[in-house]
Amino acid sequence: MLSCREVSELVSQSLDRRLGLVERWRLHMHLRVCDACRNFRRQMAFLRKAARNHPALKRKD
Ligand SMILES: [Zn+2]
Repeated sequence: MLSCREVSELVSQSLDRRLGLVERWRLHMHLRVCDACRNFRRQMAFLRKAARNHPALKRKD
């Protein structure tokens, strides 16, 4: 079982890269039983989406 600390790291990494099958599975197993990490993941996804849509923070590629 992953620790909450490992899960929070995986969650932030998952926003920048595709996680491997094993990583996704371990993440999923932890999120099933851990409310704190589920909330953390939701917040991260929300923040990332908000940042991406914010005009002042948009990257000029
Ligand atoms: Zn957790």
